[in-house]
Amino acid sequence: MKYFIPKNIQEALEILSFEKNIKILAGGTDLIVDLKENKIKPHALLDLSGLNFLNYIKLEKNLIKIGALTLHAQIIQNSLINQYAGVLKSACEQIGSPQIKNKGTIGGNIVQGSPAGDTLPALLVLESKLKLLKKGNFRIINLEDFLIAPNKSMISSNEILSEIIFKKNSSLGFFAKIGQRNSLAVSKVSLALQTNFKNKKLNNLKAALGAVAPKAIRAYKLEEFLNSKKLSLNLIKEASLIIEKESLAISDLRSNAKYRTKMLGVLLRRCLIKCLK
Ligand SMILES: Cc1cc2nc3c(=O)[nH]c(=O)nc-3n(C[C@H](O)[C@H](O)[C@H](O)COP(=O)(O)OP(=O)(O)OC[C@H]3O[C@@H](n4cnc5c(N)ncnc54)[C@H](O)[C@@H]3O)c2cc1C
Repeated sequence: MKYFIPKNIQEALEILSFEKNIKILAGGTDLIVDLKENKIKPHALLDLSGLNFLNYIKLEKNLIKIGALTLHAQIIQNSLINQYAGVLKSACEQIGSPQIKNKGTIGGNIVQGSPAGDTLPALLVLESKLKLLKKGNFRIINLEDFLIAPNKSMISSNEILSEIIFKKNSSLGFFAKIGQRNSLAVSKVSLALQTNFKNKKLNNLKAALGAVAPKAIRAYKLEEFLNSKKLSLNLIKEASLIIEKESLAISDLRSNAKYRTKMLGVLLRRCLIKCLK
């Protein structure tokens, strides 16, 4: 297998433009597993470890910009994320182990496109956009349009995800998941929630779900039901039934559809009760 370690982005994009059946390697926490299990058989690897300039978190005007090679551990510790994207911080805190957090990148989590990828629901409620580079060109695409199906996205084989962009947001944000264990477990079901909570009202509420559909999805029916409503225990009860209607869950080796769907209501209660405290 050929192995490339470009020193700059032009070199990386040039290699991608001519090399066939090539895979990009970031932290390798998904890719190396897929290689070992023979799920993928590329002829070449493009190692991004020489492109350190794709590792940053910055605020430009009202936009937070995260370089695709930023590690989950760096996102958790970053003050801008803490202030303006609490939901993403919470999602990254619940990923894997310290080793995975210190090796896995946000870009890898997005491009892997697992329905259970934990940053995805958080980035959906932040209405994130992605910057994709190819030789001599770039495009910006909404994350919601980027995800297509399990482990499938709109990225082309000659493109690199370089940046994740969303508006800074000081609203309350929560991410909750259920896995086989409390840590080091892939989500059986997950929920991200964000709201500008004022006078007990759920203003501008956004919700997204993981592992209950072929891709991470926004929960629009739930949003419509809860938006601008005054939060009460009765409302939480009603909303727990509404959120179940968003589920397209399947049964697989990790969990079954009925359990996944029921647990959505439990996760919703856990998040909304935190607002009341
Ligand atoms: C033990 C273990 C526990 C885990 N726990 C969790 C968990 O709790 N939650 C969770 O969501 N995930 C978990 N994961 C999965 C994984 O760690 C994350 O998805 C991680 O963020 C992947 O990032 P990476 O940099 O390692 O990606 P890689 O493995 O390097 O790449 C993943 C995919 O993305 C592509 N890619 C990577 N970067 C780019 C880029 N910039 N542009 C274009 N394509 C790119 C690669 O070609 C590959 O197809 C776990 C994995 C392991 C092994």
